[in-house]
Amino acid sequence: MMEIGQGEFGIESFRETLQRHELRLCRDRTSALQVNVGLKCDLTCGHCHLECGPHRDETMDGATMEAVIDCARRFRFDSIDVTGGAPELVPGIERLITALAALTPRLIVRSNLVALNEGRGAELSELYRDLKAVLVASLPATNSSQTEAQRGAGVWERSMQALRRLNGLGYGLPGGTLQLDLVSNPVGAFLPAPQRQAEKKFRSDLQRKHGITFHGLYTFANVPLGRFRSFLERSGNLQGYLEKLAAGFNPCTVQGLMCRSQLSVDWRGRLHDCDFNLAAGIAYGGEAALLSELAELPEPGTPVAVGDHCYACTVGSGFT
Ligand code: SF4
Ligand code: SF4
Repeated sequence: MMEIGQGEFGIESFRETLQRHELRLCRDRTSALQVNVGLKCDLTCGHCHLECGPHRDETMDGATMEAVIDCARRFRFDSIDVTGGAPELVPGIERLITALAALTPRLIVRSNLVALNEGRGAELSELYRDLKAVLVASLPATNSSQTEAQRGAGVWERSMQALRRLNGLGYGLPGGTLQLDLVSNPVGAFLPAPQRQAEKKFRSDLQRKHGITFHGLYTFANVPLGRFRSFLERSGNLQGYLEKLAAGFNPCTVQGLMCRSQLSVDWRGRLHDCDFNLAAGIAYGGEAALLSELAELPEPGTPVAVGDHCYACTVGSGFT
């Protein structure tokens, strides 16, 4: 099991910080399944904790999708959250999300928006609407320069096009039931702006300048793993960033952490406590376990495997 930064740079480990605050990070009832369908993506964002990109060909195969559907049938999760990579690029994604939508009251699909403009993106947008999937779309900023600094040239206009198309399908309309939320991560080695303040700015800028509406905005700290960790190392910011995360530890966030209520499965069908542990190579229960062999959901009180990347979830208002 890898613990990022443990003992490095003289920073107290996440585990020790929990102990000092007399906290334990343990599971509650498992009500959510997160499904990472693979690392293939049309973008190569600088903050990506999974190092996804067009060069990655790891995607979930049909047999693993069937194991996910079978698991959803057996355990009836309150929500199922499909992520990647870009889910739109995975062969067979239509069959997977259609089957999952029938097995959970809340199907969530994460999209980078740009993938909705390519290939089967237009048809998939309509399928999301038909399935009443909740869409969580990433957009780092309300201007092209910051957005493209993080996500690459040409991304801004294609993101705006996708958001307009989603609004046209009924997503993100005030009072509407097709939920469209945005996610913003800082562009660089900074902590995010307070969520409420950022949401106000996004709402006003996108509506006023682009006629685009959405429901909620989440702001999250970048997780020091994968491509973002390489950037921190190259730019000499790793120590400073880890110190900032550790100094901002907020004990009140621990109760609501997502790893307390969800299981995460990767494209190979392997289980993790969350998508960040997946990126760090930390298996659920400490050793490689397959979703297809899961006999029962974790008991409340089961410890969650942690590493120092967990500081990104507990800084400020947290990542829940
Ligand atoms: S952050 Fe998302 S959109 Fe960007 S490369 Fe990673 S998976 Fe793709
Ligand atoms: S990275 Fe975050 S969600 Fe994952 S185990 Fe750590 S605290 Fe929980």
